[in-house]
Amino acid sequence: MQGFLFEENKQNSSPEKSSASAELQLLFDRAKGCHKCTLAATRLNFVFGEGNPAANLVVIGEAPGAEEDASGRPFVGRSGQLLDKILLSAGFQREEVYICNILKCRPPGNRNPLNDEIINCMPWLLRQLQILKPKIILMLGKVAANTLLENSLSLGTMRGKLIKWNGYDCFITYHPAALLRNPNWKQGCWEDIQLMMRHYASMFDQAQHTEKREKP
Ligand code: SF4
Repeated sequence: MQGFLFEENKQNSSPEKSSASAELQLLFDRAKGCHKCTLAATRLNFVFGEGNPAANLVVIGEAPGAEEDASGRPFVGRSGQLLDKILLSAGFQREEVYICNILKCRPPGNRNPLNDEIINCMPWLLRQLQILKPKIILMLGKVAANTLLENSLSLGTMRGKLIKWNGYDCFITYHPAALLRNPNWKQGCWEDIQLMMRHYASMFDQAQHTEKREKP
């Protein structure tokens, strides 16, 4: 099963955002048969992403793994269950956010994405973000962050701060698969999520203040 598994969150919809669902569907229809890199030959399923087209938070990982490849859905299996718990700790149901990866097809053996795969696949992600217009992006893991930010910094250097990327407010934390291997990193992840949520709350406070000031 692929594509739009979650209905738009009605509490979080607006006329502008309501067209996002249709635009995402059009993009999915264009992208699902993509053969721009060699991963098309080895994939079981194209993994576009899923979630709320009106999401304020978009979560981005590096690429589908075996279970994602088998199901056509991002972040399923044990990593996905842990991501769901992380999102819940931030007050989000999985259905309220949008979850996707940089690559839409699984690299064999879960190796890191290659440059040509990134170059060929990034336009799909960038278009998804143009449609979604998230308030905040959460990047999961060093590979995803290095790829998007085009750097080679350590995760420790990138975590714990607001980072601007392409005009989006971004935060970076551990990939859930890394947390499964190293449970002692969960405290750091919790701190990253708290920081992100404080920023998220401040964005809405500012918006409310501006709205109040503009009222006659
Ligand atoms: S990984 Fe991206 S660029 Fe490569 S075939 Fe899949 S969708 Fe196309």
